[in-house]
Amino acid sequence: MSALLEVRDLVKHYAAERRWFGLGRPRAPLRAVDGVSFSIDAGRTLGLVGESGSGKTTVGRTILRLQEPTAGRVMFAGADIFALKPGPLRALRRRMQVVFQDPYSSLNPRMTVGQALREPLEIHGLATSAQFAGRIAGLLEEVGLDPAFASRYPHELSGGQRQRVGIARALSVEPQFIVCDEPVSALDVSVQAQVLNLLADLQARRRLTYLFIAHDLAVVRHIADAVAVMYLGRIVERAPAASIYALPRHPYSRALLSAVPEPDPRAAKQRIVLSGDMPSPAHPPSGCPFHPRCPHPMKNERCVTEAPPLRTVAPDHLAACHYAEHPM
Ligand code: SF4
Repeated sequence: MSALLEVRDLVKHYAAERRWFGLGRPRAPLRAVDGVSFSIDAGRTLGLVGESGSGKTTVGRTILRLQEPTAGRVMFAGADIFALKPGPLRALRRRMQVVFQDPYSSLNPRMTVGQALREPLEIHGLATSAQFAGRIAGLLEEVGLDPAFASRYPHELSGGQRQRVGIARALSVEPQFIVCDEPVSALDVSVQAQVLNLLADLQARRRLTYLFIAHDLAVVRHIADAVAVMYLGRIVERAPAASIYALPRHPYSRALLSAVPEPDPRAAKQRIVLSGDMPSPAHPPSGCPFHPRCPHPMKNERCVTEAPPLRTVAPDHLAACHYAEHPM
């Protein structure tokens, strides 16, 4: 199997706002993403998980070049995304789509569903006038909606139906890769499962590759082949899904996993509640960035002074913790 997407040492810093009249010390840049690397094989899903402010959405947006990177490299199907000129980049963008958390804000309220689906087909010349109606009906059926929905407006749809339209719009240009940016976070739990099943079915049918961004490990459990956990702009653990759910090696992953409800009450685990909030990415703590909140019993002075590198701690399993061989 070969990687469709390869991300190497991706960095995205935001310059701090200038102080009035240049007085005082210059402010530190906001280090939203700080050296992130991973790859995704064709037809597979990487779950990218972390709290709000961990940098996961910035990773997704920078890969798609919706934001310019500070440094790093992204290869998609052999093409260097950051080196592409506007023409070839536009052509490649069709193959890389995004499904947002809130489809309401990405759908034009004055366009019917049919018009919203027709627009990308027209822009990319993917259908003739005679084919539009059939293509739109086919897309709606593929995402589990009646073709009659083509005449409705976004405000006439439920959250789940709107998200299905968002997915149909992404599919309309026949992509290979989709960044799913918290696509079910705004939906009721029962609807979440339906949309996740739909994404899984579409992946199998169309051999899609997903980067699935979520703020908790429960959501990606049934869809991800591998999981990367982010904290303060860095990946702190990356492993095949089965490995990370069976034995998370980083205390942060452990805490996120402890919040996932267990279907079997006998297997219920003790919830680990982290103290404090995530520090500002403009002023990351010294040593291990997680040390102010880390509940690991072996935490010591070394954690405050020495940054743990992301290293292999088990076959195919990487973690950035000095004591990853002694999981909590
Ligand atoms: Fe906790 Fe130390 Fe491991 Fe960081 S290196 S996660 S502070 S035990």
